[in-house]
Order: sequence, then structure tokens, then C-alpha cells
Amino acid sequence: MKRNRLTRQSNYIKNPSDTNAWNIKHRYIACLILLSIIIFFLAYSSSPKLQDDTLQTQVVELPVLLENSGHKSISSHGPLASESDFRGPSSITLKSIFVKKANDAKDNGQDIFTGLLKASRHSFLSWDEVEVRPGDNLSLIFPRVGLSAKDVYLVTRLDKKALGPLLHLKPGQILHFGTLIKKDGSISLEALKVALNPIETFHVRKVEQVYQAETIKLAVDLRQKQITGKIDSSLFEAGLTAGLTDKVVMEMAHIFGWDIDFALDLRKGDHFKLIINEVFVNGTKIDDGNILAADFTNRGKTFRAIRFVDSKNRGRYYSPEGDSMRKTFNRTPVPLSRISSRFNPNRKHPILKTNRPHRGVDYAARRGTPILATGDGKVQFIGTKGGYGKTVILSHGGKYTTLYAHMSRYKKGVSSGKRVKQGQIIGYIGSTGLATGPHLHYEFRVNGTHRNPLTVKLPKAEPLPKRYHAEFKAQATPLITQLDILVDTTLAQGE
Ligand SMILES: [Zn+2]
Repeated sequence: MKRNRLTRQSNYIKNPSDTNAWNIKHRYIACLILLSIIIFFLAYSSSPKLQDDTLQTQVVELPVLLENSGHKSISSHGPLASESDFRGPSSITLKSIFVKKANDAKDNGQDIFTGLLKASRHSFLSWDEVEVRPGDNLSLIFPRVGLSAKDVYLVTRLDKKALGPLLHLKPGQILHFGTLIKKDGSISLEALKVALNPIETFHVRKVEQVYQAETIKLAVDLRQKQITGKIDSSLFEAGLTAGLTDKVVMEMAHIFGWDIDFALDLRKGDHFKLIINEVFVNGTKIDDGNILAADFTNRGKTFRAIRFVDSKNRGRYYSPEGDSMRKTFNRTPVPLSRISSRFNPNRKHPILKTNRPHRGVDYAARRGTPILATGDGKVQFIGTKGGYGKTVILSHGGKYTTLYAHMSRYKKGVSSGKRVKQGQIIGYIGSTGLATGPHLHYEFRVNGTHRNPLTVKLPKAEPLPKRYHAEFKAQATPLITQLDILVDTTLAQGE
């Protein structure tokens, strides 16, 4: 369990040795005088607006200050708040000065604070949940739990980087507010939590009157699982039968997408073997991890891929020999679809009925099916283009361009000049322009000349760098052994 770092208290806790013998009354008066001096000092010192705000808070929260100083003096050990302790100390910025002086002067006076301390210890936070709506930001959300613009201001004084998750809230996220009702009836924000994913939670907590943020990560347990499957009608159905999530099926299609055209080449009886990671937290599976190793046998030919994570923490798939599984281009932009029309320079156009060459490949799929960029590139054109309807053209550095037509809509964020990654969604299947039904018309051009996307020779991606060979071998060997054993299991099941 993480502990927060309260460093300021150590000064006075470690030196409680002053044996001066003032009585309680004296001490109380001394406190009041000292406080008055400090308030006077602050009120007339330099900085304008910000200082005024601080001053207000200090006056209002004086009783809390006393509780806390007492609390700390008595429990004179270690850091105060643990990760799970959301009754964060409510103190004021003045506190360290005040407590230190008082402590230097006198230590017996602790008793005064004990009663207040007890009250403080039993005041638990009340928690409220707020769901983020589209277009929300902190200024809109805070008032829903009774917090003010000033609270927003105080929280956002954290530096931008630390505040990240709160600046990029997504609709549907749940914010948990831990608040205290102060003696004047106003509400004080003590803690704020938002789950970023099943593993990470972003915490903001008030410590010493200042908000601190951290991301708490649950301990994750990765467990390997072996899965085999056989294609009967479609890859997705086979995945479902084998107990795979869509995510894993998509990843498998992606890994082998350069060697196998899942729209064209898939046959009944094709089969696959996977070793995947499953992600567990506290004994419960919360997600599928990456595919670690996989075999896919297509029409009798087996392809094998092993995942390798390099020193920059990038995971890539290689053949057991260290050749990249990827090529610079994917063969198909819609992995799970059916080819409805092929590249044909002498075709009659189905709508225009004139002799018009078909200079691309058509992939029929349900409206809304994602269309993936076949290679890394840059958006050269996005917009409506005559009979093509909604169209995206990507340029892939140098001589290659690809074109995607008849989209129903573009993927949000894809715009002219933007970079896209291979496999990234750029739009969705539709039938805009001259189209008989929902499909993607896909073109592949080399130096401006249309080439058949299904047969054009695609440039290969870089193999595994030599310096990684030994490490790759060490990672790959046990996985390869497991895959080999799995082959035997599959054969046994088939007999
Ligand atoms: Zn077409």
C-alpha cells in the first residue's frame, strides 16, 4: 500500500522535548496573538487576489487546524494518511508555521486539542457519484455536488500533467467526490476518485490544504491460456465457439492479415491455436491481454507468429525466424467482409451500364463496419468525390496511395493532413455516391497507376533487429514448445 508523503509534520513531532511550563491559558492566548499577527501580516502582504482567497479559507477553517495539530502530536508516528484513508487532513496553509511555533513554546497544551481531535476522527467523508455527460468539464460537474468555482480553481492548480485524467473526462466515467460539511455549512472537497480502467484509479486528495494527485494501480496477475479453434463458417463464429472475445479475434485477424486474406482465403476446416494472456485482479478475470503466440493454418499452410516486446515496450509479432509478420500494407482494409467485385480493367459499370474499368476491389459488409487504413500514412484527401461518395485518400510516403470510397461516415479525428497508423479505423462502410449497396471501393495506386490490390507486390516491413535476436529466442522458445504441444491436442481431437 502506498503512503503519502507528509514531510512537514516531522519537524515538530521529532522534537517534542521542550519542557517549558506554561499553563493552558497562556498557551491559548499566545496562539491567538500569534494568529492575529499572521493574519495581519498576510492581509497586508504583497500578492493581491490569490492571497485574499487564501486568507478567507484560513479564517474559516481555524478549528480544523487545531484538530489536526492535536491529531498529529498525539499519534506521533509515521506518515499520517494511508492510501485508503480518505479522511484527508483538513488543515490550512498557515498550519506548519503555527504548529511549529506553538510546539516550540509549549508541549503540555496538547490536551486542549484532544476533544477537537476526537470529533475530527469520527467525521467520515460523504461520497457522491457523478456520471460525466457529453461536453462536461469540471466547472459543470462540481456544482452538481455543491462545490463551487473556487473548488475547481483549487483543484486545477495542480500542474497540467498531474491533472491529466480530469482534463480529458469521457462521457460515462464516474467521478466519486468525498466531501466534508464544514461548521459554517459550506462543503469542502477532501478527495476525488475516477476509475481510468479496471486497473487504474486516479485519486486527488487534499493534504495540508493543497490537492495532490496520483494514479493508483492495482496489482495485476497475468495468466496464460491456450485456445484452439476450427473455422466452420466465419472467423468470428469460430472465435465465439472457442470462447474468444471479439477483441482477440480482431487481433488474430490483424496478426495474420498480411499473409491471409480473411475475406477471400478462409476455408472451412482452417484452424488456429493461440496462447493468450488473461488479466486477473484479485482472482477475477477482468480482461484479455495480448496474444503471445499463435498458429493459423489456412488451406493446409500454417503461419506462426510470436509476440516480442522490445526495449521501448513496443509489442510486435514475428515469425519464429524473426521475420516481421507485418508488411508495409495490409492486403485488405475490411478484414471480415466479402469481396463483391474484383479489379477488372474491362468491366461494365453496374449502374452506368457503360464500359467502365473497375480499378479497385469492392468489399461488401454491413453498413457501419469499420474500414482500416491498410498502411501507415497521411490523409491526403477527405470529402465527397462525385460517384465515389464520401472518400478518404491516404498517401503512404513516396509512391503509394490508397483510396477508400462510399463511406457512410468518417472516423472522428481523421482529417486532412493527419497521420494514420496501419490498421487504424478511418471510416465506416456505407453506400454514398454511386453504389448499389453498402460496400467499400478500395484502390491501390503505385506512382499514380491503379494496381490490383489483391495481387500487387507489397513491400515487406523491417525484420527483427539483430540486437534483439538472443532475447527474442529466449522469449519465443517456450511459446513455440507450447504451440507444438497444442498441435498434438488438436490432432487428437480431430481423430
Ligand atoms: Zn468498386
